[in-house]
Amino acid sequence: MTEWRENIITFARKHRDSVYINGPDRNRVALTFDDGPDNVNTPVIIDSLKKYGVKGSFFFVGEMAKIYPGVVRHAFDNGNLVLNHSYKHDNLTQKTNHQIQADLNQTDKIIEDIIGKKPALMRSPYGDTDEKVVAAATETGHKIVLWSIDTLDWSQRESDNIVHNVIDNIRNGDIILMHSTSRTNETAKAVPIMIEELQKRNYDIVDLETLLNVQAYQ
Ligand SMILES: [Zn+2]
Repeated sequence: MTEWRENIITFARKHRDSVYINGPDRNRVALTFDDGPDNVNTPVIIDSLKKYGVKGSFFFVGEMAKIYPGVVRHAFDNGNLVLNHSYKHDNLTQKTNHQIQADLNQTDKIIEDIIGKKPALMRSPYGDTDEKVVAAATETGHKIVLWSIDTLDWSQRESDNIVHNVIDNIRNGDIILMHSTSRTNETAKAVPIMIEELQKRNYDIVDLETLLNVQAYQ
């Protein structure tokens, strides 16, 4: 287990109602997609989710959402959650409380202008979180949702590897981290196969609102 993982488990335990790394021990898991939207792979992923009747959770970056509002709306209109992944993917632990709040508010505003709803869930870039980030997230109405399986899809992995990494490690309540950017076409390829393999193993694929029993929007 990586040092980040060990630390975050302890940290999440300490902040039980404001920081989540997985859901309860039942046969439900969530697919989450960070860093988008883009106008190629994000739409392909949205269409795959739709084809299988599965809802995903997208943590979009504010400045990307501003560039591709149509893709944000498309994700939302198809029943997926549209959530906050900061304005331009800065490491929030390097900012002051005031700067973190400004960053999250700015991103909420961009999303709200597009879908009419303000996210109540955020994921800190790189999963970097500390007391200050939790305080600022809470003050701006957000719970922090991290993950329990990293597909490492950003590191030029092939779709087979992405799928296997998930299927070989899946447990009840897992939150699966993937990315939906212009570089993650292997993720877009992996999603339908992953959904089929998870469903074969009787996992219900749900959004984070359902997995964690929390509100996605403020
Ligand atoms: Zn990210």
